[in-house]
Amino acid sequence: MHDLFLGEQPYGWFAIIGIVLVIQANWVFHDAEKRGENKWLWGAFALLNTPSNLLIYLLVTRRLGKRHTCMHCGTKILNQHQYCPVCGEEQKEA
Ligand SMILES: [Zn+2]
Repeated sequence: MHDLFLGEQPYGWFAIIGIVLVIQANWVFHDAEKRGENKWLWGAFALLNTPSNLLIYLLVTRRLGKRHTCMHCGTKILNQHQYCPVCGEEQKEA
C-alpha cells in the first residue's frame, strides 16, 4: 500500500488522480443537482481537472447562491428564487 505513494510507481499517481477526479465529479454532480444547476455540464467540467475546476465550481455556484432578505417578511432567501418560500411574494431582481 505504501508503494503507491512513493515516486517509484508513476502509475500510482495516475490512479490517485483518477480516483480524486471521479470523486470530485460525483460530488459536483450531486451538488449541482441539489442547487438546480446544470449537473451534466458541471460534472463533466469537474472531471477535467483538480482541484482548480472544483474551486471554479464552488466560486460560481456559491456566488449565485447568495441570499437576500425578503422585503415583505424579512426571511433570508436564495437570490435565484423568484418567490419567497415563506410569504409567497414575488422577488424583484436586485
Ligand atoms: Zn417573504
